[in-house]
Amino acid sequence: MCQTTRTILWQPAKEWVRERNNRAGLVLRVGSGQATYHRYDPRTKQHLINYGARMIAAKRQPATAQGWLSSREIRERGYFGGEVSELNLLAHTCCHEFAHLLQYSAGQRRYGSVHNRHFYEVLDQLHASGAAEATRHHLAEQAAESALTLSRDVFKTVNQPVQAAQWQAGDQVCFGTGRQQKQGKVLRVNRKTCTVEVAHQPRNLLYRVPFSLLSPLG
Ligand SMILES: [Zn+2]
Repeated sequence: MCQTTRTILWQPAKEWVRERNNRAGLVLRVGSGQATYHRYDPRTKQHLINYGARMIAAKRQPATAQGWLSSREIRERGYFGGEVSELNLLAHTCCHEFAHLLQYSAGQRRYGSVHNRHFYEVLDQLHASGAAEATRHHLAEQAAESALTLSRDVFKTVNQPVQAAQWQAGDQVCFGTGRQQKQGKVLRVNRKTCTVEVAHQPRNLLYRVPFSLLSPLG
């Protein structure tokens, strides 16, 4: 995923990004947890994209893949024909995080409004332009070279209840839709809900959110 992001998404966009921020670089890495994110460090001018190993593991199985924001985006926005599969999910995850990099570079990432209209315009464009398709193709090729199979089997929507075991304190999650969407961090896993802390001035807000309404980010 790191190599694909660099080769297929970053290389052609690098000049555009550097016209806005002339020393910008990109670091790609795999983290051990679930957390999957884009972050920018203004001091070093480095964009960082972190892919979580637990996120990848979760997206290999229909039951654990269904709650993720990327599953919802593929289904609801019709990316890759609306088909959720292991390959499509991982390719889309590269596009999702890279769309944050482009969004940030365009100055459209605002505090408390991360998955905003501009973000989805960028993400739609990555899919419409063929960049997402190229990403999927490259990822499948890379995997095959390493003797890994990324399944193209389409996941059926399973109505299995989301389990407490899916969540851990510290997980980044979102809930709600559209302008009401909120993003925060799991503080505590309860029997049927998670207590989620959402950044807010002057004091952070706490929500108790049922498992079924929570999506891990990424
Ligand atoms: Zn995101």
